[in-house]
Amino acid sequence: MAEKVKVLIIGSGPAGYTAAIYAARAGLNPVLYTGGQPGGQLTTTNDVENFPGYPDGINGPQMMMDLQKQAERFGTKINYGMVTSVDFSGYPHKVTVDEKDVVEAETVIIATGASAKYLGIPSEDTFANKGVSACAVCDGYFYRGKEVAVVGAGDSAAEESTYLAKLCTKVHLIVRRDEMRASKIMQSRVLNTPNIEIHWNTETDEILGDDTGVTGVRVINNKTGEKKEISVQGFFLAIGHKPNTDIFKGYIDMDETGYVKVQPGSTRTNVEGVFAVGDAADRVYRQAVTAAGTGCMGALDAEKFLAAKEAELVGDNS
Ligand code: NDP
Repeated sequence: MAEKVKVLIIGSGPAGYTAAIYAARAGLNPVLYTGGQPGGQLTTTNDVENFPGYPDGINGPQMMMDLQKQAERFGTKINYGMVTSVDFSGYPHKVTVDEKDVVEAETVIIATGASAKYLGIPSEDTFANKGVSACAVCDGYFYRGKEVAVVGAGDSAAEESTYLAKLCTKVHLIVRRDEMRASKIMQSRVLNTPNIEIHWNTETDEILGDDTGVTGVRVINNKTGEKKEISVQGFFLAIGHKPNTDIFKGYIDMDETGYVKVQPGSTRTNVEGVFAVGDAADRVYRQAVTAAGTGCMGALDAEKFLAAKEAELVGDNS
């Protein structure tokens, strides 16, 4: 028989755990499925220095363990499983875990996050957390006074390059075409920043390094075939993010990239009783603290929804 829950949370990043803390403290006995990467994107970061309340910073995986503990302390049931499909065509909502177990949920909070896109070359893995990063705001500080490279040519790449240019001696922007996709204003900021050098028609061949981490990048000019090495200590990817929302397609309204559309000022989706929080619904801010904030909103919205449903039932029976 299907497990029945009042509040089902899908995802275990700051958004999911914060939703769990609030829902658990409201006595809603939430059940949280962690997904394939328990703890989410922050588990790939060494030091988190911009989350309020940690004056000395905190290690990303440690922070996620603390959030998990806090959610469990108030009675959240945490399950290590992957939600593989959903059926939001009726009510209660049906969610299938690991392709076999069906859970029936009165409310669902989508907190599945987003994943940074990577180039797919082996050296990205070799130097993960040792110089390779997909978040300049998170990790840029560690490269102050050093040279770094940024890959990409959209608004993210432009924003990350100008951000890093304030901290680093030089930023090498690696652009695969002879033009950037970024908006004109962002491009002009890049072009007017003296310590950003743009390498046009250039692709990454390999990230170079040793035991200390990244030491450089070998790039190739895709027009001439010429290879060269650039000496850098940090390598930042800014080639876009992909929200982890494929399993909700067909039920939940999304934008063209897959970010869930929520009603302004709330976490409500187009489906009654389904809420979306964190990076899965945020293409702009994508920070741990904003994810946690919307996680709280999701739990409060779910609580309000359940209370209204209950009041409806009482009304029907009286
Ligand atoms: P985009 O999809 O807009 O841009 C991705 C960039 O990465 C493109 O220039 C693309 O190159 C390049 N790229 C993709 N794959 C590769 C690859 N394998 N090798 C090298 N380069 C690659 O993503 P963004 O994250 O920049 O932006 C996403 C959305 O968020 C956009 O709508 C953007 O406007 C918005 N945004 C807005 C900001 C703001 O207004 N402050 C800040 C950041 C984002 P190519 O051009 O050749 O396809």
